[in-house]
Formats: sequence, C-alpha cells, structure tokens
Amino acid sequence: MLIIQISPEVYPYAKTGGLADVVGSLPEHLEGLGNKIVIFMPLFKKVKENVSNLINTGISVNIPIGDSVRKGNVWKTAPHLQTSKTEVYFIQRDEYFHRDTLYGTEHGDFADNAERFIFFSRAVLEAVKQLNLKPDIVHCHDWQSSLVPVYLKTIYKDEPNFAGTKTVLTIHNLAYQGLFWHWDMKLTGLDWSLFNWRQLEFWGKLNFLKGGIVFSDAITTVSPTYAKEIQTQEYGCGIEGVLQTNTGKLSGIINGIDYSQWNPELDTLIPAKFSAKNIKGKTACKKHLQQKCELPVKDVPVIGMITRLADQKGLDLVVSIFEELMKQDLQFAVLGTGEEKYHRMFRDISQKYRDKAAVFIMFNNQLAHEIEAGSDMFLMPSRYEPCGLNQIYSLKYGTVPIVRATGGLADTITNASPETLKNGAANGFAFKNYSAQELLQTILRALDAYKNKTTWAKIRKNGMTQDWSWKRSAREYTDLYKKLRK
Ligand code: ADP
Repeated sequence: MLIIQISPEVYPYAKTGGLADVVGSLPEHLEGLGNKIVIFMPLFKKVKENVSNLINTGISVNIPIGDSVRKGNVWKTAPHLQTSKTEVYFIQRDEYFHRDTLYGTEHGDFADNAERFIFFSRAVLEAVKQLNLKPDIVHCHDWQSSLVPVYLKTIYKDEPNFAGTKTVLTIHNLAYQGLFWHWDMKLTGLDWSLFNWRQLEFWGKLNFLKGGIVFSDAITTVSPTYAKEIQTQEYGCGIEGVLQTNTGKLSGIINGIDYSQWNPELDTLIPAKFSAKNIKGKTACKKHLQQKCELPVKDVPVIGMITRLADQKGLDLVVSIFEELMKQDLQFAVLGTGEEKYHRMFRDISQKYRDKAAVFIMFNNQLAHEIEAGSDMFLMPSRYEPCGLNQIYSLKYGTVPIVRATGGLADTITNASPETLKNGAANGFAFKNYSAQELLQTILRALDAYKNKTTWAKIRKNGMTQDWSWKRSAREYTDLYKKLRK
C-alpha cells in the first residue's frame, strides 16, 4: 500500500512534542510490513537549520486562499533515516513557515495559523497530484492537517489521484483543535454549507479537528484508554458528542518507542551505558546528573521530570505538594519549557531549595537523556495524557515512573501492589484521582519501596525488560489501513 503521512512536525526535522517522534519513527516500521511511505510537512525554519541536503523538486503549487492565490514550492530530502526508504517532502512558503517557532510565541498563537495550515493542507494535495502519487491511504495528524479529509471528500472528490483513497486522522492531543473565527471559512475555499454544527462549526467558530473527525474514514488516538476517555465530558474538550457519534470509526493504538534513540545500552548522550542485565552504569549516570544539577552527590532517590510546562501535565499538583516533598530525603530535577507562570513557579522553587532541586527552563535533548538515565524515578502526574512517551522511555532507563493513571499512562504503567509485584507486572506507581494528596501518597509509597533494594530492583527490571517498540503498533496501523481498503 502507498501511505501518505501528513504532519506538521516530524523528528528529526522539527519537533515540539511527541507527535514528531511518532511520525519520525512509525514510517520505517510500516515499511518493514511492506508499505510504501511518503511524508509531507511544512518547510519550517527549523527544518532548514536541521537538514543540509534539501533538494528543490522544481514543483510549485498555486493555492487559492480566499480571493487570492498563494504560491508554494516543494522540496525534498534524501531518505530521512539511513535504514528507511521513506521520502520526505516539504512545503515551502517562507511567509508562512520561515519563523523561529512552529505555531506561536510565549505570548500566544500566530494570528495567521488558520491561513498557514489551510495553505499547507491544500498544497500537499496539489503536490501529490503533481508527483502523480495515487495513495491508498492518506494519514493525517492533528488539527494542522485535519482539513485534508474534508478537502478529499469535497473539492478533491473527483480527482483521479485520490480515487479510492481512504483517510485516517490521528488525534495526538484533543485539547488542540485548531479553533478560528468563522470568517476564516472564506480562506478554506470550502462551501459555507459545511459551516454547521454537525460538520465544521463549533460554538460559532471554525473547528479544523472537528472537520477531520467528521470527514475521515477512521480516527485513531494514541492509546486505547484515551480513545475511551475523549468520549466523556471530562476529557472530551467540548467535542465528546462528535466523538460519540463517530465512535464506530474511533480506536486507540499506543505509540511505540524508537529504541535506536532511547535505549541506555546504545545511548551516546549519556556518560555510561547500562541495561537490565548490567545496571552498573546507571550509578555513573546518576552521579553525572547530580553534578550537572549542582546537587550533592549522594545516595538519595532522584526524581526527574521532563515536560512541556503546560496545565495538562499536572504541574499545579507538583507545585502544591512541593514544600512537603522537600521535607523528604530526595533530590528533584526538572527540565521543561512552556507557560510563563510555570517558569516563574519552578524558578522560585529552585532558588529556595538549591541543595535539593534543580530546574532547567529550556528545551534540551541532551539533558533529557541525562535526566532519564540519571534519575531513579520519573514523575508524570498528568491531568490527561493521550499516550505519553517519557514514561515509556523511563521504563527502559530503569527510572521508575510515578504517574496518574490516565490515557496512555494507564495503558503502560502497572501500579506496584502486592499482587502485581508477585505476578511480575509492577513497573511503576500510579494513582487515580487528580488530587495533590493522592500524588503525595504515591510518591511516599515509591520512596518507601526505594528503601527496599530487592523490591526496587524487581520493579525496575520489570520495566526495563518490557518491549514497547513500534513493531506491535505498526502492525495495528497496517491492519487498520487494510480494513479500510477492503
Ligand atoms: P507531549 O507530546 O505531550 O509533550 P510526550 O511525553 O508524549 O509529551 O512527549 C514529549 C517529548 O518531548 C519527549 O520526547 C520528551 O523527551 C520531549 N521533551 C519535552 N520537553 C522537553 C524539553 N524541555 N527538553 C527536551 N525534550 C523535551
């Protein structure tokens, strides 16, 4: 099958979150199962910085945006991974994409995001035509490409290149829907009749993701639990009704992990390698982390956190128990960027507890690896979590996750209890309700378990020996593609 992946971000070209990791790794594994994959993404400034061998294909596209026509060019790179045959195409229009950041600044989203991604979505379809590709499946990711299924069922419905093409939309995070004022409908070129509460309209606004949900042939989310949760009022971000209506085409496929990037046995970014069989190197990694954090080098549990500093991640819970936490014999290392209020909160914390807490307000992949490798526990008390990658990386690095059992965290982390310790399933610590008290109790439970070296080694080993690679997920996606093509 020919599968076209359309995504705003792809690792290693441009990344703000887990979505980039998914679209960066999945293609290679889909290819292993006999599919041909072609990826499309915007030519962001970041891409130009990260890729030296960009090739201009000579293809240009003219896209109607409202009453005017905007031109774009199509670039490509050589196979994006050494082992992969995947072709990656980039849609260039510097006016839209040559910016320091992808979607906005710390002050808010770019004002022309609707226009940028309307342009991107249509430009991809035009590029597909000019490249004369005839995809079996067009697989879109998040709101930025959610208009593609809408276009394919309307303006492009009689295009020979898309005859028989089926569409899949993967929702990586329902909270980001691409909501714009209604006049942006004019820019889409779509018929105004689609602007109704069953299709593109949402409380008077234009909702890209809703359009994708209604018009795609299948919808997936990145974990089975999240697929169920988003159909409830608590997690549905206002569009739970639309998801309930479309429940028949909605399923959850857990993300895999790219173990060529995230494996302590192979990791070149950490000071010492280690594995479940030979854990010794982890001690050196811990020492290195403590030094880097300017914390005393000693045998206390180190709790790590690597996260976007956003409300989703349960940071209010962490802040509210912090004083209590600092009374315990432990160290804390956090790496993150995001909302200004959290920058301030965490900076204040690190000032106050210099000998116990280290805070890095930045995006730094090297440090992310060092924290994964050097910490004993990893904290992820998310309010909601579509899949979550860091808890799965943590498992491999013997860094025991402490999580709230929601979404993908519930699907990957098995709470340590007498029963799960006995049957070998325990790989972390989990709590159910979004409560500071439950979080604190769970951390205390983990700290207690840490004191018992045998128990701790067992929990750690259970996690380290699990296989969360892409193999299984790629098989599930391929099965879905096949089902759609029947
Ligand atoms: P989300 O996609 O919601 O941000 P995930 O856990 O699914 O959360 O994925 C986050 C990804 O981004 C991981 O690869 C993580 O290591 C990385 N990441 C997040 N924040 C930072 C940061 N400040 N520095 C380096 N990497 C980060």
